[in-house]
Amino acid sequence: MAAVLSSVLLKASRSPRSRRTVTAIPATRRVVDRFVAGDDEVAAVAAIHALKAQGLYATLDHLGEDTTDAAQAAAIRDSYVRLLGRLAAEGLAGHAEVSVKLSALGQALPGRGEQLALDNARAVCAAAATAGTTVTLDMEDHTTIDSTLHILKVLRVDYPWLGAVLQSMLHRTEQDCRDLAYPGSRVRLVKGAYAEPASVAYQEKSEVDAAYERCLAILMAGGGYPMVATHDSRMIRTARAAAEAHGRTAGDRELQMLYGIRHDEQLKAALAGERMRVYVPYGSDWYGYFMRRLAERPANVRFFLRALVGR
Ligand SMILES: Cc1cc2nc3c(=O)[nH]c(=O)nc-3n(C[C@H](O)[C@H](O)[C@H](O)COP(=O)(O)OP(=O)(O)OC[C@H]3O[C@@H](n4cnc5c(N)ncnc54)[C@H](O)[C@@H]3O)c2cc1C
Repeated sequence: MAAVLSSVLLKASRSPRSRRTVTAIPATRRVVDRFVAGDDEVAAVAAIHALKAQGLYATLDHLGEDTTDAAQAAAIRDSYVRLLGRLAAEGLAGHAEVSVKLSALGQALPGRGEQLALDNARAVCAAAATAGTTVTLDMEDHTTIDSTLHILKVLRVDYPWLGAVLQSMLHRTEQDCRDLAYPGSRVRLVKGAYAEPASVAYQEKSEVDAAYERCLAILMAGGGYPMVATHDSRMIRTARAAAEAHGRTAGDRELQMLYGIRHDEQLKAALAGERMRVYVPYGSDWYGYFMRRLAERPANVRFFLRALVGR
């Protein structure tokens, strides 16, 4: 039942009709506010100050994806550049980096999309270098992976700190982990948030979890910097054990969770001396992100339904 609900919600996350319906409901906003830091940079930066005061690090995501217009991609690039300037000006560059979706920077544009996304991402990396922080390239559905890893490789020549994301649900990912487990390579490991076919992805949660643990073992044994992004206590325990087995200290890897999810656990990890980074989305284009969060967890759907009926 949960798997069916999840697949319906993931389909809806890409449907313009569902987008119109869900975003028109006034009560949706209250639930969105739990997962999204606000509509603009001012709200986002305020959220980072609050997280910093609690000993937490952040990676900021300007919401938006599947851009099919070069002017819109340029506007998103410019908003990242502005945000990075603001992080530096407010003394937050040591605590916050940015996460970027290449589809928001034009990757999906027919013909010249990959080059456009590369150029826009390069401008964001240059602004991050000036600000004194880093960038991570989010990973989207499996059709974009070869292009994203190609852009990563090109940009790492000038910006070796550029982070990648790998999704354990995909059959290819163990090999991608081996390829990216080299010194200095920042890799965020996630389970994967997109509906993927059986031809490329594990369909059972137990298989995705087992693959996550195998990928963790590869990344922790390698020379890179693993970023363990999960709310799953079992995966976190496995990550800690693997890190210890390979003599990694708290500075050789980090944990990451999403804004608004398991905040108590985020604080506990920070208090225990872990580097805990919170993924903080902001902006008005929250629909796709929000629907993927609902799809992940039936409890989030219940929370949404309760808000709709006003309880
Ligand atoms: C920092 C970060 C960045 C991400 N970037 C990407 C990306 O670039 N591309 C991509 O495809 N995906 C990304 N994701 C999403 C990811 O792929 C998963 O969809 C998402 O993290 C849910 O998987 P999970 O590992 O938390 O485990 P799940 O299997 O979803 O959850 C495992 C357990 O975690 C606990 N849990 C989960 N949610 C909650 C909650 N709301 N409250 C309490 N307990 C909870 C429960 O115990 C649950 O059983 C990212 C996730 C994070 C944390």
